[in-house]
Amino acid sequence: MTDYQSTDYQSKSWWLESLPKTITPNPELAGKDKADVVVIGGGYTGLSVGYHLKQLNPAMDVRVIESDVCGYGASGRNGGFSMTLFGLTKGITKFRFNDEKARAAHGYMEEAVDYLHDFITQNQIDCDYERSGYLLVGTSKGQVRRVEHDFKIIEKWGSTGIERWDRARLAEEFNTDFYKIGWFEPRCGIINPAKLARGMKELAEAQGVTVYENSPVTGFSKTGASGYTVKTENGELQSEYLVFATNAYSILFPQLKSLQRPVFTYIVMSEPLTDAQLNSIGWQSRAGVEDARDLIHYYRLTKDNRIVMGGGDVSFTYSNDLNIDLNDKIFAHLEHHVIEIFPQLKEIRFTHRWGGPVSVTLDMAPAIGYLGDDKKAIFSLGCLGHGVSLTTYNGLTIAEMITGQNSSRTEMFFVGRKIIPLPPDLITQTASLAIRGFMRLEDRLYYK
Ligand SMILES: Cc1cc2nc3c(=O)[nH]c(=O)nc-3n(C[C@H](O)[C@H](O)[C@H](O)COP(=O)(O)OP(=O)(O)OC[C@H]3O[C@@H](n4cnc5c(N)ncnc54)[C@H](O)[C@@H]3O)c2cc1C
Repeated sequence: MTDYQSTDYQSKSWWLESLPKTITPNPELAGKDKADVVVIGGGYTGLSVGYHLKQLNPAMDVRVIESDVCGYGASGRNGGFSMTLFGLTKGITKFRFNDEKARAAHGYMEEAVDYLHDFITQNQIDCDYERSGYLLVGTSKGQVRRVEHDFKIIEKWGSTGIERWDRARLAEEFNTDFYKIGWFEPRCGIINPAKLARGMKELAEAQGVTVYENSPVTGFSKTGASGYTVKTENGELQSEYLVFATNAYSILFPQLKSLQRPVFTYIVMSEPLTDAQLNSIGWQSRAGVEDARDLIHYYRLTKDNRIVMGGGDVSFTYSNDLNIDLNDKIFAHLEHHVIEIFPQLKEIRFTHRWGGPVSVTLDMAPAIGYLGDDKKAIFSLGCLGHGVSLTTYNGLTIAEMITGQNSSRTEMFFVGRKIIPLPPDLITQTASLAIRGFMRLEDRLYYK
């Protein structure tokens, strides 16, 4: 199934390459055994499900099976923004569901961001967490209209804690002419994603979760009333509950294939800025920044003051190949964009480039759902590029579903919702290209 290369993980992102210790993978799953819950996938979702299950019911036998090393997927490669966005935009979520649900989703995401803050600090996870806020900037007339539109939505909802930054406030923060309006959310933050994933693995294990690495799941089957059997090359586990925490990689399972598609987003990273370079651009708050285009740019500083710049464009896979993680054209665009915003940095060198898959549903909204009627096989997917806080919080929600505890989380509209299946591959490919083409054009014409 997955194209596994044992020493490959370090090449997947600077975050994974620069972990304080080289990873020695846990032993693979071997032989036959039984457990209460089997979780497929060792990213934030899977590790959080494992950790929370043991918190809610310490007697449960929980196993996480990871094809590579935990954090190998999007969780070890992302931009590291802990942010409140659910789905693609507030407007699209409102249009797809309704105003009440979009508001509920925003509330869930605010809780998710606060929860991740507490989770990291209370468990002392060393992941360079900074609660430095999130800044959405409008850099053209069209983008300003969009940000204003989001302010109107949020004001109508009565949501608080978001600051409007005008040009004068932005100029206090950044030495650039690029920004025309800002939406600042102080509750948000930035993390080192791979450190968070590895920290979550240690935490889950400390609670008693068994984690197998180097163990791609090759298939699963329903074994009557007794639950599910999951197979790897050298092992087999039976369990009552099964969780697919495979996000974009869910495409590898025929039973989940039509629910979502992987879309690839890319990142470049600079060498560490000198103090003089940092002073020349400002960026006092160290907030993660996104612009308001269709194909957004997202950027931030690392702990050692490198600039991480991602987005700008995306690419698709038309096969089960999830290693489409290099794209020179997009990398060049991103490097150029850093200099466009901060011409002071024209001499800066870029040292790293990588990419990874995010999971996209047809309606651009996340989903936690059931496979089959017995409600014992659960999947979580469609988190787009906003899964850091969401997937960690979803882990708690899924653990509550399995242990039969009702909460405001398990009652959310996107839990157990009907997912509109994607059309056959050729139609999906054509539609994806058309949508991306439209977004590119719209960005060129209106959003720059
Ligand atoms: C480049 C990039 C930038 C992003 N930036 C941000 C951001 O700044 N903020 C934000 O909120 N979100 C961001 N995201 C999205 C976020 O990273 C994801 O939503 C989140 O990490 C998904 O976590 P997950 O555990 O569900 O999936 P993953 O982390 O992808 O984990 C799935 C795991 O399943 C494993 N697996 C796959 N197949 C099998 C198999 N057959 N058997 C066993 N295991 C298997 C994989 O190896 C992987 O480890 C970004 C994503 C990318 C790629």
